[in-house]
Amino acid sequence: MSVTELKNLDTIVSLAKARSFIYQSSEIYGGLGAVYDYGPLGTELKRNIRDFWWKAMTQYHDNIVGLDASIFMHPKVWEASGHVDGFNDPMIDDKQSNKRYRADMLVEGHIAKLRSKDKADEADELQELLDTAGSRKGLCEDLHELIMDNEIRAPESGAFEWTDVRQFNLMFKTQFGATSSGDDGDAVYLRPETAQGIFVNFKNVMDTARQKVPFGIAQVGKAFRNEVVARQFVFRMREFEQMEMQYFVEPGTDAEEYEKWLNKRLEWHKALGIREHKLRTHPHPEDKLAHYAASAADIEYEYPIGWQEVEGIHNRTDFDLTQHHEYSGKKLEYYDQKKQKRYTPYVIETSIGLDRAVMMVLCDAYREEEVDGDTRTVLKLNPKIAPTKVGIFPLIKKDKLQDLAHKIEHDLREDFNVLYDESGSIGKRYRRQDEAGTPFCITVDFDGVESEGEDTVTIRYRDDMTQDRVPVSRLREAINDKMNSWQPE
Ligand code: ATP
Repeated sequence: MSVTELKNLDTIVSLAKARSFIYQSSEIYGGLGAVYDYGPLGTELKRNIRDFWWKAMTQYHDNIVGLDASIFMHPKVWEASGHVDGFNDPMIDDKQSNKRYRADMLVEGHIAKLRSKDKADEADELQELLDTAGSRKGLCEDLHELIMDNEIRAPESGAFEWTDVRQFNLMFKTQFGATSSGDDGDAVYLRPETAQGIFVNFKNVMDTARQKVPFGIAQVGKAFRNEVVARQFVFRMREFEQMEMQYFVEPGTDAEEYEKWLNKRLEWHKALGIREHKLRTHPHPEDKLAHYAASAADIEYEYPIGWQEVEGIHNRTDFDLTQHHEYSGKKLEYYDQKKQKRYTPYVIETSIGLDRAVMMVLCDAYREEEVDGDTRTVLKLNPKIAPTKVGIFPLIKKDKLQDLAHKIEHDLREDFNVLYDESGSIGKRYRRQDEAGTPFCITVDFDGVESEGEDTVTIRYRDDMTQDRVPVSRLREAINDKMNSWQPE
């Protein structure tokens, strides 16, 4: 059988819409850039991935507890975190098309072009200037000079009519309360990451949830970034969901804990059902680390758009707690009674974008298979996260078959997300569920209800399309067995 994997992102975008996984936001009004809505199947899939993560973090670690902080936070939080001053991208506008570009990315694009033309020396020289941008006249000025000196043109219009380079803050600002004007003095922001909610609640959790270092706080929630280069489906959105865990450790143990969490997180991706050869870790070189980080690595997946970050693991040192201590005046320290020692814990952070995880799961599961001269599209999702677990079909619309199918539907509903379907040929019904990633389909036929003894039905398995005949009383067990032994192919 010939099998084709996903080749381009458009295929997933179309399938996601056609099978009710993901829609563009406000589509009937022409859509809103880089904002997406999850449809019925997408909502289930996303919820299952979220639960899979939550369980791995909280249920399997008795020293990790949950938190659900608000999206709005005191404006000072973002001063302390560095987001007000530092969460900026250097942008430049093409005057001809009015399109805005990341200035550093334009230079990077030019470097790639030079390399493709075998001009390695020129490329290396420019890379060196890009790496040291900011050290001469200032970041904006240095980048502008590089664009001008190298006559870098706008990628779409081809024009060479640039504005100055300006810093563009990625936080969404809004007004708070009826009397606010939203001016700088009283502006609040939509949080650009969930992490700060955890840092500012560090003391609350430690004091009230009886946690001792090392301990972690896990949180899932929306984050907002006014991304400038916002494309590539749910990979880069302006409103997205993060699943973060901040693990507070004693300084000196941080390097070991960092390695431990990097490994643990990579194992989680495999347990989610992602094929090993599509995953890799990418440690950040020391000279590219954020100023507060002692070490950092991305877990990357090979999307159809190339290897890209799904999750970041960071050793954030004591930067965040120290900053909030300074800005709030409240001590955020830990007293170790056994060692009789007081210190500010270091933080190991694991931060994954839920939407990027959904996109990874869809891309990894997608296959086109030639079956009897036909192409079947199938999502080979880990059954544990599949939106619908079991399709239940009476072979034809006859009372005897429908009654038993409904009874099975009713019995299994308590344990599994099931779907009853009696419309169309059985082959069509299987195909519909293949595209939705449903791992098991139960068909009720006359052989099973009219033969001697206990009623039987067939279970058809999505991945290899084989079937077993199973007594109705053994259905739950048979499904659970297969679900627990599933492996990605
Ligand atoms: P990138 O370099 O791709 O912009 P980042 O390094 O800014 O990502 P972090 O700030 O470390 O990302 O955020 C942690 C995680 O949140 C990322 O690994 C990613 O999965 C997710 N994430 C960040 N920005 C977005 C976005 N605009 N849309 C969807 N997910 C995002």
